[in-house]
Amino acid sequence: MKRFTALTVALVWCMIAWAQEQAVRPLDVPMSFSGTYGELRHDHFHSGLDWRVGGKVGDPIHAIKSGYISRVSVSPWGYGNGLYITHPDGTTSVYGHMLRFRDDVARRVEAEQYARESFSVNLTFGPDDFPVRQGDIVGQVGNTGSSAGPHLHMEIRDTEKDLPLNYLSRGVYKPVDKTSPQFHRVCFYALDTLPVSRSWRIHNLTNPTAVRDTLRLPHRSYVAIDATDRQEGTTGKLAVEEYRVTLDDTLLFAFKVGDMSTEKGRYIKSLIEYRESYRGGRDLIKSRVDPNNLLSDRITCHNDGLIILDDDAVHTVRLEAIDEHGNRASLRFRVRRDDGFEPPAPDTTLNRTPWLWYTQNGVVEEGMAYFLPAGALYDNIPFTWKKVADADPARGIVSDVWQIGSPDIPLQMPGQLEIDASVPDGLEEKVYMANYGETLTHAGVQVRFGTYCVALDTVAPTVQFLGNKGNIVNGSSIRIRVRDNASGVASARVEIDGQWYLSMLRRDIVSLELKEDRIGRGNHEIRIRVNDMCGNETLETRSFTF
Ligand SMILES: [Zn+2]
Repeated sequence: MKRFTALTVALVWCMIAWAQEQAVRPLDVPMSFSGTYGELRHDHFHSGLDWRVGGKVGDPIHAIKSGYISRVSVSPWGYGNGLYITHPDGTTSVYGHMLRFRDDVARRVEAEQYARESFSVNLTFGPDDFPVRQGDIVGQVGNTGSSAGPHLHMEIRDTEKDLPLNYLSRGVYKPVDKTSPQFHRVCFYALDTLPVSRSWRIHNLTNPTAVRDTLRLPHRSYVAIDATDRQEGTTGKLAVEEYRVTLDDTLLFAFKVGDMSTEKGRYIKSLIEYRESYRGGRDLIKSRVDPNNLLSDRITCHNDGLIILDDDAVHTVRLEAIDEHGNRASLRFRVRRDDGFEPPAPDTTLNRTPWLWYTQNGVVEEGMAYFLPAGALYDNIPFTWKKVADADPARGIVSDVWQIGSPDIPLQMPGQLEIDASVPDGLEEKVYMANYGETLTHAGVQVRFGTYCVALDTVAPTVQFLGNKGNIVNGSSIRIRVRDNASGVASARVEIDGQWYLSMLRRDIVSLELKEDRIGRGNHEIRIRVNDMCGNETLETRSFTF
């Protein structure tokens, strides 16, 4: 009986060990990261690890655990070629920006692309389609989709919740990391909340560790921090796991990334000092907690994260940045109250009204209406608007030009914009809502704060085959530049010898690879059909020899 129990225990232990198989590395090269989980990226948190590969594509990618390929996605953007492996322990590993999938998967993907006549596909598979064992090669490292250089973006998700897990902080992989985070920039802002929130920058410390003087602060202020983590052997500016702001002995603000769902991560715009990001700078995390900041489940705060100075004694503001391995950097400022800060004078040429974050908001003017749903604002704001220019038919602008709100105020979701336009008869289909500027670009009717007008597009896109000396084929590839002067290219369809042919449209280039097993060698005819957002169409045909 005793023996039987021991055997049973051993058996159960083996089953648990198999179910909790330790993840192996996806790459053969030494472990090093150019990006980590939780990095602030303007409109989302980075949801995985970016594994470095030494600047070249083609390294094999291994399945980190056994399981089956449950999904493959192909897109000119995002993860490019993305592959998902579902594991029996309740997790799914995700591999992004791949150069190519393993052969059997690649054949299946291409068959589906031809069947659906679409470059972009999103395919799901069952456990018996493509099973994998731990360590199997599932494809190669690439630079596809929204990637700025060869690397492997890898996530581990909770399969059930589709939640990307913060797996470095769980110790799944153990890089050498004895280096503390670094502070790059610290800004302080004065805050006025009546009748609506208005803040303005009073200190911009670009060398924050060198500050020795006592900083003057108004009665109420908050701080914003740009800090990144460092690890041995990489120049990557990596994520800080936890931020803390303390006034004397009181914790005013702490934020810990934790596990961030994609949906929740969209609230990042209320966590960062959005104005600084809008101006093109790196993201700074702010201590002030907006009333509609739904990341508050991972924020600890006192007084909404405000630094409130009730006397004129010298106080201490301490900032801390902590990485996922417990390395900690801290910075202290001596601060003292100063009531001499005056808010900047408002622009009196703008119409202005307070908008409250917990209701829907709207403005109706002669010639324009804009409605923002409840939940779109993070805070009460001064909504501003004005007509900035008349129609300009020479530029195709057939309405007044309206400035709607201030574009450095972030929104969780866009609002609905209507602008009256005088459209010539028969051209109703040829108008579009445009972002107004030196050039006009397609905006749609759901828009964030910015400057807009209604514009007319009656000109078809241009098509230019790229290649050398009258030969459009370069090696085995064909590249075609497609451009539209106004509403923008909506679609480009390629046919070779009358059959749909796989091509990718990215920015203004259509590219395709000729394959002998699909078209054979000899003379062929390629035809491209390009449409803009207003239905104008260009058809071009060329002959080529392959
Ligand atoms: Zn990444």
